[in-house]
Amino acid sequence: MITSPYHLQRCYALPRCRVCGSKAWVKIPWGNTWFCRTHFISYFEKKVYQTFSRYTPRIHKKLLFAVSGGKDSLAMLYSLAGKLAEEGYSLAVLFIDLGIKGYSEYARKAVEKAASDLGLSLIVVDLDKEHGFSIDELASRKSTFSFGKPICSLCGIVKRYLYNKVASDNGYDLVVTGHTLNDIYAFVMSNLTTGNLEDLVKLRPYVPGSASFVARARPLFFNYEYENRLYTLARGIDVVLQPCPHSPLQTGSLTTSFKKQLLELEKEHPGIGLMFMKNFLKKVIKSIEYSKPSQELVRCSICGMPSSSNPCSFCRIKLKLGKA
Ligand SMILES: [Zn+2]
Ligand SMILES: [Zn+2]
Repeated sequence: MITSPYHLQRCYALPRCRVCGSKAWVKIPWGNTWFCRTHFISYFEKKVYQTFSRYTPRIHKKLLFAVSGGKDSLAMLYSLAGKLAEEGYSLAVLFIDLGIKGYSEYARKAVEKAASDLGLSLIVVDLDKEHGFSIDELASRKSTFSFGKPICSLCGIVKRYLYNKVASDNGYDLVVTGHTLNDIYAFVMSNLTTGNLEDLVKLRPYVPGSASFVARARPLFFNYEYENRLYTLARGIDVVLQPCPHSPLQTGSLTTSFKKQLLELEKEHPGIGLMFMKNFLKKVIKSIEYSKPSQELVRCSICGMPSSSNPCSFCRIKLKLGKA
């Protein structure tokens, strides 16, 4: 007995892969299209490569992939590394061990396996050993020191700082990160809400480098987290599945709320996030850039890295922890 339209579809219209017509493995809701596993892998790899090559000028030689061990950055690494190595780029993987108990150990293993699978050299920065503090410590002392920011924002400052420092210290001219459409949508919305135009114009698939800021590429700019997870499943890639233990503490942060909002929006309007990002890039960012005030950079008097403030945000965290 047919009880629902869904049942009817299962019985009479078995979905087929758009490319080869064999039994479908996955539906891409925003394209209203189906793929078998093999053709989903090719669709995904082509998409990531196209985002990378369309926006990243061919001036870079040494690429540093910042990989966290989660589904997004690992999907990025596996889908892109082979093709870029073939094109003559020199590649390495960077993993920051943030010292998060019950999380960082697994993340590190996943990244070590990926680097070895792909034959890439791996740079590991151990935050606790090299800088004297861990994210766990920062989280536990946060209220005492009242940084005024959620722990995930502080962790973001630490990671961004180290990506740039490791890349510039080791001669890498491009940092490739696994920020997804979901992340960037949430950043755009929160920066619009708080009126932070300075950071808004940096939210694009490629940000050129400057005197001491290494250029950045975000090849997952148009990728939903959903697609990245599917890709790791399709290829059997080991990823850290458990959420970071600090992320529940994020409740109340604007970016978390906007991420949830996007998931809701997508249910009724599949592809709305993609449309948003395309228009943001094509139209909104251009007009903001036209009127954006220029930001003066200074050198941090402690670490010597460029920053909009002195000391830089990273050194201010260390100072407050008494680790500078
Ligand atoms: Zn197929
Ligand atoms: Zn500094």
